[in-house]
Amino acid sequence: MKPYVVAIDGPAGAGKSTLAKRLAKELGIAYIDTGAMYRACALYAIESGINPKVDSPELRSLLETAEIDFRTVKEEQKIFLNDIDVSREIREPHISTGASDISALPFVRDMLVTMQRNLAKGKSVLMDGRDIGTNVFPDAQVKVFLTADVAERANRRFLELQEKGDPSTYEQVLHEMTARDEQDKNREYAPLRQAEDAYLLDTTQMNLEESFQALFQYTAKKLQHLD
Ligand code: C5P
Repeated sequence: MKPYVVAIDGPAGAGKSTLAKRLAKELGIAYIDTGAMYRACALYAIESGINPKVDSPELRSLLETAEIDFRTVKEEQKIFLNDIDVSREIREPHISTGASDISALPFVRDMLVTMQRNLAKGKSVLMDGRDIGTNVFPDAQVKVFLTADVAERANRRFLELQEKGDPSTYEQVLHEMTARDEQDKNREYAPLRQAEDAYLLDTTQMNLEESFQALFQYTAKKLQHLD
């Protein structure tokens, strides 16, 4: 089979990364978490005291020095920023908001989209994000738009954060998620939206296993028709 791309897009907390990771493993292809790349840029800006919301000469020259790469450490995928493992730091709630801010800047998107296309050169990949099926790989062989009701997504994220000992309340998580979705949907450049030819998978009423089975079956059916 020639190299192919599986694109999974959708709003925050729809279960994309958990399902995407498992699907990539099952298919034996590389998994690329594009959200982690926006998060790493936001972390870099915030830690350097530079506003991630504004296209400034300071932000541009800072990001020119950002080396972002994925490495596998003890069978787990980690993201490195200038040789430092930032996989944990990028998951903090204020970085989620910063990632959404920085991702609205066209120069940041251009830079990361180029990196994402390079990462997929000559091999099959599964990429998840917001604009993979619409913008990064509009010709992806498999496109899925994964979503769920916002209350359900916020509840899942809240339980995840609680497990990690994060003190955020459900209301805070819901508020952050709603604000981030609105910003991602309404930005001018490559906003979050379902590609016309994407399969809509709404997991509001499904558990993780049911969601995975639906995703896997759809993907397997699409891949059967490739040569
Ligand atoms: O998927 P995750 O929640 O880690 O993404 C963090 C933020 O990065 C999103 O809210 C979105 O603003 C941005 N993002 C994006 N395009 C992508 C992936 C993520 O704009 N392909």
